[in-house]
Amino acid sequence: MYCVKCGVKLADTEIECPLCGTVVYHPDIAREKAESLYPGKKYPRAGITPRWPQVMFTVAFLLPLFIVLLCDIQFNLGITWSGYVIGALVLGYVAVVLPSWFKKPNPVVFVPCDFVVTALYLLYINLVTGGKWFLSFALPVVCGVGAIVITVVTLVYYVRRGKLFIFGGAMIALGAVILLMEFLMCITFEGVKFIGWSLYPLITLALLGGALIFLGICRPARESMEKKFFI
Ligand SMILES: [Zn+2]
Repeated sequence: MYCVKCGVKLADTEIECPLCGTVVYHPDIAREKAESLYPGKKYPRAGITPRWPQVMFTVAFLLPLFIVLLCDIQFNLGITWSGYVIGALVLGYVAVVLPSWFKKPNPVVFVPCDFVVTALYLLYINLVTGGKWFLSFALPVVCGVGAIVITVVTLVYYVRRGKLFIFGGAMIALGAVILLMEFLMCITFEGVKFIGWSLYPLITLALLGGALIFLGICRPARESMEKKFFI
């Protein structure tokens, strides 16, 4: 008996290929108890994830952070422009490197973290620049988009079914957030008038989202689409 994937010779007792892990099944050979050709304990599979990439990324993150901070303090005697750079670096680190420290990063935990850090970063910019747009504009938009993304991620991660309904609903909700965004821009920034540009993405997203939900409900339509696009 040979492995269908890598071609290595196998004992008739083998349940899976010791080399590539492919499950072994031969309908004509009954699996009997016997010695394995390759002693499993002698060749342990590489299961330990090395930590050095994370360490390297952390150094690559901390190094520019300190350089930027020192330069700023050296020339401006305080934190001026470096605050933005550091904020962006922290945002990138939380979004990309932080989850990789965990064996099985749960997106339901990490995605909300990203939005919290984004909101804090915007709050910082707002405070430093003396803007008045955080509470009435940035925070509601981040919360709106965050709520949609977190809902989608949670449902896809835990429910694993009804993706058409999830994404369809998310598209319609996103259209509503864009409409809200235009409204908030009008009340936050002077000179911005409500002209209704957000209605175009809203209508487009509502139609697309509606189409996805329709496909979710109507099985014949879904099947014909699957045949057409080979999904
Ligand atoms: Zn194999």
